[in-house]
Amino acid sequence: MPTYRPAPVEFVSGEGCHLTDANGKTYLDFLSGIAVTSLGHSHPAVREAVSAQLGKLLHVSNLFQSGLNEEVAGMIDLLIGDGQLAGGKVFFTNSGAESNECAIKLARRFGGHGRHVVVSAYGSFHGRTLATLHATGQPAKHEPFAPMPEGFRHVEYGDIQSLDRALDASVVAAVLLECIEGEGGIIPAPPGYLKAVRQLCDERNILMMLDEVQTGLGRTGRWFAFQHENIKPDVVTLAKALGNGMPVGACWARSEVADCFAAGDHGTTYGGQPLAMSAVRATLQTMMDIDAPRLARERGAYLRHLAEQIPGVSLVRGEGLLLGLVLEGELDATKTVNEALSRGLVLNSPAPRVIRLAPPLIVSPAECSEASAIIELSLAAVRDATDAGQGYSS
Ligand SMILES: *Cc1c(COP(=O)(O)O)cnc(C)c1O
Repeated sequence: MPTYRPAPVEFVSGEGCHLTDANGKTYLDFLSGIAVTSLGHSHPAVREAVSAQLGKLLHVSNLFQSGLNEEVAGMIDLLIGDGQLAGGKVFFTNSGAESNECAIKLARRFGGHGRHVVVSAYGSFHGRTLATLHATGQPAKHEPFAPMPEGFRHVEYGDIQSLDRALDASVVAAVLLECIEGEGGIIPAPPGYLKAVRQLCDERNILMMLDEVQTGLGRTGRWFAFQHENIKPDVVTLAKALGNGMPVGACWARSEVADCFAAGDHGTTYGGQPLAMSAVRATLQTMMDIDAPRLARERGAYLRHLAEQIPGVSLVRGEGLLLGLVLEGELDATKTVNEALSRGLVLNSPAPRVIRLAPPLIVSPAECSEASAIIELSLAAVRDATDAGQGYSS
C-alpha cells in the first residue's frame, strides 16, 4: 500500500556499517534502519544465535514456559537497573507500538475505571496503532483517522507547568514521554525536566512511563536515556535495537505495577517467541561485552565535534550516537539526504530542517570522518542548487 515513498535504492546485503545495493554500490549506513541495527549489519553473534535457534525451535506460543524468555527478561531488568537488578517484570512484543500499547493498557489497569487518561507530549512519537497514534502528540497525524480512542491528553514537551496543570490525579493514570523526542526531530528534554516529572508523578500516584524505543540500549551513551538524569521510571518500553533487526519489543514495569495485570488481561501470539529471543540474548550479551554505551559516548562526542564544524549546520542536538543536525534556514533536509544517498551515505530527516545521525554503535572514527565529509559536500550541493534556483526565479 502506498504508505511510504521509498528511495530508489534497493539494499541487498550489509556488513558492519556498510550496505550494498542491487548494483553492487556500497554505502555507509548512518541510519541503522532507524536506530535498529546498533551492532551493525550481519553481526556474527546475532547471526549465529539466530541460525542455531532456527535449527532447534521457532515457535510454541506463550501457553508454555520458556527459560530463554525468562533469561532475556532478566537481562533487560539488569540493564534497566544499570548493572543491578531493577526488580521489574517484562512483557515481550513484536514492535515499539505494541510495547506502548502494553504500557497504556497497564496504566489503565493501574488507574482503574475512570482514572485512565495517559498524558504525553506534543512532538512525540509512540507508534501507529490507534491508541499509540493518539498518544503521539502530532495532531496532523490524528486528523485523517478521527475519531481517536478516548483517554489521551497532550502537553508542551519540556514545560513542567504545562504538565502540572494536566496531571489531574482523579482521571490521569500515567505520563508517557520520550527522554529525547526522536521522530519529532531529536529534541532532548531540558535538564531537570524528567526529575521534575518524577516528582509530580510521585506526589499524585501517577505512573511515569518512558518510551525508550529509540533512545534505549546504549544509543545515548547510557543503557537508557533516563539514566543520565538519575531517576527511576515505573514503566519503560523498548523495541528497535533490541534484536539488532529482528522484529521484537518489550514493556518493562516495576513489579508492583506489572502485577496490576492478571492472567488473560493481555496477550500476544508471537511476542517472546524463541527465534526473536535468541536474537535479543545475543544482541544484549554482545552490547554488554563491548560496553555499547561507552562506544556511543566516545564516538558520539567525536561525531558531534565533526558535525558542529560543517558549514550549513546551525546546531547539533541529541546525546551519544543519536544526533540531530539542524540546518540553516534556506537548506532543505530532504534534498540533503538525497544528495548524501547519491554519494554513498544513508541518512534521514525526521523533521523539516533536521538530519538524523544514528550510525551503528560500533562505528569507527574514520567512518565518522567519512560521513561528515559527505554531509559537507551534500550541503554544499544543496546550497548551490538553492542559490541557482533563486537566481533563476528572481
Ligand atoms: C519507532 C518508535 C516507535 C514505534 O515503533 P514501531 O516498532 O515502529 O511500532 C515508538 N516510539 C518511539 C520513540 C519510536 O522511535
